[in-house]
Amino acid sequence: MTDQPRHDQPQPDQPPHDAIIIGSGHNSLVCALYLLRAGWSVRVLERAGTPGGAVKTQELTLPGFRHDWAAMNITNFKNSAFYADFGPALEAQGAEFVAADHCFASVFEDGTWFGVGTDLEANLRRIRALSAKDAETWQALTDGFAARAAVVGGLMSSPMKWTSLAGLGFNALRQHGWGGTFDIARFALSSPRDWLHRTFESEQIRAALAPWGMHVDYAPDIASGAIFPYLEAFGDQAGGMALGKGGADTIIRAMVAEITAQGGSVECGTEVTQILHEGGKAQAVITADGRRIAAEKAIIANVAPGALARMTGGTPDADYDAGLATFRHAPGTVMIHLALSDLPDWRAGAELRDYAYVTIAPSLDVMALAYQQPLAGLLPEAPVIVVGQPTAVDPSRAPEGKHTLWLQVRMVPGDIKGDAAGQIAATDWTSALEPFADRVLDIVERHAPGLRGQILDMRCVSPLDLEADNPNLVGGDQVCGSHHLSQNALFRPVRGYSDGTTPLEGLYHTGAAVWPGASTGAGPGTLLGQLLT
Ligand SMILES: Cc1cc2nc3c(=O)[nH]c(=O)nc-3n(C[C@H](O)[C@H](O)[C@H](O)COP(=O)(O)OP(=O)(O)OC[C@H]3O[C@@H](n4cnc5c(N)ncnc54)[C@H](O)[C@@H]3O)c2cc1C
Repeated sequence: MTDQPRHDQPQPDQPPHDAIIIGSGHNSLVCALYLLRAGWSVRVLERAGTPGGAVKTQELTLPGFRHDWAAMNITNFKNSAFYADFGPALEAQGAEFVAADHCFASVFEDGTWFGVGTDLEANLRRIRALSAKDAETWQALTDGFAARAAVVGGLMSSPMKWTSLAGLGFNALRQHGWGGTFDIARFALSSPRDWLHRTFESEQIRAALAPWGMHVDYAPDIASGAIFPYLEAFGDQAGGMALGKGGADTIIRAMVAEITAQGGSVECGTEVTQILHEGGKAQAVITADGRRIAAEKAIIANVAPGALARMTGGTPDADYDAGLATFRHAPGTVMIHLALSDLPDWRAGAELRDYAYVTIAPSLDVMALAYQQPLAGLLPEAPVIVVGQPTAVDPSRAPEGKHTLWLQVRMVPGDIKGDAAGQIAATDWTSALEPFADRVLDIVERHAPGLRGQILDMRCVSPLDLEADNPNLVGGDQVCGSHHLSQNALFRPVRGYSDGTTPLEGLYHTGAAVWPGASTGAGPGTLLGQLLT
């Protein structure tokens, strides 16, 4: 199907803007700011009552306890090309960050721990206690990080065009020679397990780094996932982690304020149900309350690929439509938000109270199962638990002396077929959430005795709650689509359209489903904003 029937019923509600943006995820707001700077008029339409999508901060438990609903670590946003450009304007609108010097740690069953922070000597001391050889390797990786990260970072912030890739390849050859360039290519294709095994001998170092693949969609054995543990570990060591002062939504509030100041608008409570097109050209959107809103130059959809296919009803390129319809989502996430009387009393050591993240994922094998079981529809027996301690870094998020805890459980199935531990009979999230949250809290309690006694209030969020809040998180998939090789880079979301264009003139796609994909790094919104202006 290429054209829809004429939609004469709904009435236009305002003179057309240059751009209509569907959804107010951070990529939409980033793109809006590029367009406004180029003199476009812009209107953002958001179905939820609050802008920001996966970047929202709310009192989810008790008054005065501000919890990041989803994303907590906004380092990638602070370090982005977009922020380098628009940072001063956003800071004038109130964007504020707090720095975490103690970035991430992992605790192990034998009561030990390993962590990474900005103090190289302290990191090396901890590594030397595990393996002298690993300490040498860590130092060598630290020495080479800036040059390597420039190549990898350059790739992640470039459009997926042969010309850009050829330019990057040429620069890599000039700096690293053939051998060095092939080594970088081999590294880029490696799974976390491949790289961690050939690099470190300590199981603990391997286990502490590997969860950074799990944050995206890279279990230990997924090809091309090695980049994520590497970038997080050495990036955090080099520059620390950034959280939002008062909550991750500091960046959303500042961008909305700046959009408004530049004459644009962000309208919440407005769901777009259809994109109208005629003669291969996108013309207007239809909202759930029956309005027809036209755009002069661009309709930009920050929606999941399946939703985009439904909203257009088909484009002139059947392969593109099929690609959107068969786009594969990753397993889901459960979030548990706690209001606490004190930070957890970590069995492995009081130093852990200083870390932004403490992860419970004892080995690569446990992580591999915690991924594979949800893929098979099973609640994982030993899920990966990322314990965010935002108030260790930013006490302003809770009343004095009190704390919030952000528990991210990776991974879980969106549709439950059973329980890998054979203990939870429920196969719907309404009944399974409570016993599954109990399993998670039991595991945390083993590492932080007394945790349950410190809980003042709790809010559990199932994968379906995440999707109900933001339909881009299909089945609770926090990254809006698997990032495995067949669906990444040139193929994200569909080959030929990784730059956010679509087969319809005037219709563009942005957000985590489009290259360079998920994270708060603003990549898709930046690349599209630059393409259009
Ligand atoms: C639980 C969780 C934890 C995460 N943790 C981190 C982290 O710590 N650090 C990090 O860097 N990344 C993290 N991420 C990933 C990151 O937050 C996301 O990849 C990123 O925020 C996605 O931004 P986006 O611009 O693609 O849009 P989204 O944030 O997905 O927002 C899309 C918006 O579009 C709206 N929308 C959709 N359809 C319509 C429609 N038809 N009409 C109107 N509006 C519509 C939605 O309501 C939503 O507000 C996390 C994600 C989740 C879910």
